[in-house]
Amino acid sequence: MSIEVRNVRKTFGDQVALQDLSIAAPTGKLVALLGPSGSGKTTLLRIIAGLDFPDSGTVHLHGDDATGRRARDRGVGFVFQHYALFRHMTVFENVAFGLRVRPRRERPSSGQIRATVEELLDLVQLGWLRDRYPSQLSGGQRQRIALARALAVKPRVLLLDEPFGALDAMVRKDLRRWLRELQDQLQVTTVLVTHDREEALEVADAIVVMNNGRVEQEGSPDHLYANPGTPFVYRFLGGVNLFHGRLRNGEVDIGGATIKAPELAEAEDQWALAIVRSYDFDVTRVANRGLEMPAIVRHVRTVGHVVRVELSELSGKVIEAELPAARFGELALGKGDSVFVVPRLARVFPQGA
Ligand code: ATP
Repeated sequence: MSIEVRNVRKTFGDQVALQDLSIAAPTGKLVALLGPSGSGKTTLLRIIAGLDFPDSGTVHLHGDDATGRRARDRGVGFVFQHYALFRHMTVFENVAFGLRVRPRRERPSSGQIRATVEELLDLVQLGWLRDRYPSQLSGGQRQRIALARALAVKPRVLLLDEPFGALDAMVRKDLRRWLRELQDQLQVTTVLVTHDREEALEVADAIVVMNNGRVEQEGSPDHLYANPGTPFVYRFLGGVNLFHGRLRNGEVDIGGATIKAPELAEAEDQWALAIVRSYDFDVTRVANRGLEMPAIVRHVRTVGHVVRVELSELSGKVIEAELPAARFGELALGKGDSVFVVPRLARVFPQGA
């Protein structure tokens, strides 16, 4: 493991930012810290960096206890959301900076510095901008230069705090792909803070979902997406509908429809939360299985090859369903139509008596 955070607790006054939290980042992998605002992501990143210190618990980097060490002695590289390039220096000088300020004994020769900077500028594919100043770059270019600058000192770990947060959606998407490729090439252990689930799912080798200063769930993107362990993770990954109902004999009665939960056939009679992803509904014109919810079509929006259909159930509850465009075409749905909604797949969480 390159990074091991063990039982870290951090408070600010009476505010608990991290509650005995432990995480580990395997060498050469990219781990995303994903969570809502205030869940403690940045605090954790700052503690790994040595920009802040825990009340208790430890941080090990490559097996060494780094808990009390200052940032500059930890061998970490950072990139933050707001570009921190030096305005009065060219792109070349920005990237060279970390090498030029090394103590004389450790400083590479100017020829070596030039070679390293050229290599990094090639890596981030921006060699042609070497003589420009930061104000003459686009936001995406500045973040790529910030990354080259962080990499110049050959950090043992790279910490990225919402590095693409201030950029527009298209640029973010390009940079995500670019970061993934760069990471495959360099294999620097990286921790990326983000509240963007798509970014985490697309870029990371492992995701740590944080909630209120704790780890809610961790795992590979595929595992997490296929097996959210709690309602919080389901909701955070998005695209879900929640139904409350009574669980009896492995079925949840959600009023008008029944959701099957055979895995809970033995559970006691109790309240339950049933979660259905929007693409796990079917919509029909006629009722034929007795498991459907009658609903009215409220709004229809085509997004590429899927159609998002907003429906309201008889009680007024809003259901968001996503249908393949071909299925939508067959149904020829329009606003105000009466239909039936069938949950094909649901995950049920017992809530107790
Ligand atoms: P965001 O996505 O909004 O940046 P986050 O998940 O990174 O949020 P943190 O910035 O780590 O969350 O904050 C965690 C909690 O600690 C929040 O409740 C925040 O208000 C509190 N906190 C963070 N830094 C300080 C500070 N310097 N002083 C007081 N409270 C702080």
